[in-house]
Amino acid sequence: MAVESDSRRPLIAGNWKMNLDHLQAIAVVQKLAWTLKDKNFQPTGVDIAVLPPFTDLRSVQTLIAADNLDFQLGAQDLSPHDSGAHTGDISGAFLKALACKYVLVGHSERRADHGEDDAVCVQKTQAALKHDLVPLLCVGETAEDLEKLGASAVPVSQLTAVLEAIPSDSELVVAYEPVWAIGSGTPATSDQAQEVCATLRETILSVHGKEQAARTRILYGGSVKSSNIAGFMKKPDVDGALVGGASLDPEEFAAIVQFEKHVTVE
Ligand code: PEP
Repeated sequence: MAVESDSRRPLIAGNWKMNLDHLQAIAVVQKLAWTLKDKNFQPTGVDIAVLPPFTDLRSVQTLIAADNLDFQLGAQDLSPHDSGAHTGDISGAFLKALACKYVLVGHSERRADHGEDDAVCVQKTQAALKHDLVPLLCVGETAEDLEKLGASAVPVSQLTAVLEAIPSDSELVVAYEPVWAIGSGTPATSDQAQEVCATLRETILSVHGKEQAARTRILYGGSVKSSNIAGFMKKPDVDGALVGGASLDPEEFAAIVQFEKHVTVE
């Protein structure tokens, strides 16, 4: 069953991972803003978000506010806890106080490096929603999963675990990120991305109903570049991109953000 909606505003989000200190962050965001201004880009049809390391958030927030930039801010992780004896953790309340809109949950690097399983992702999603942040939930299969189970099984089960634990009208962004495509230079094809994103939308439909399936944005992530973004964005169930490496180069990220101008290169 196709779920259609024209209310899903595309989102292009840059996940900087553990790159760029706060001074470099300011330079990159300034250059991104200048590049888009030079191209007379009007961000009427797209939300643009940057997800810097925690230590950059205050600097980037200040720059966005001072220069009135059309960029949204997000973080790469949050604690399941609100406050207290959790050394090294960062609370959703602190992120909200820095005007963060989004927070990544369950990025495959955190699932792999920190053993974050579905139960942790559920807790972190709940914490994000509690603090009025939009969880940007990453789901995706490894190369081994793909070979054994096909593309959709793992992402669907990761998404289902979270959907079943949150209210059905929660604002959530889902990022389908095949682990084998992240940082590999080998993206999924736009057809592969569409197939899994459509299946994820069907999953939202079956757990939370048609309205939620129609309004939830589903992004593709994994080796997105300016040369392949248009192909993904043409697909009906792909509502944007989570961009890692290419988001560190402000000119390249600016070109991705202007996806409507591109000719598809697959
Ligand atoms: C990511 O880390 O979320 C990602 C998509 O990385 P890359 O674009 O570098 O593959």
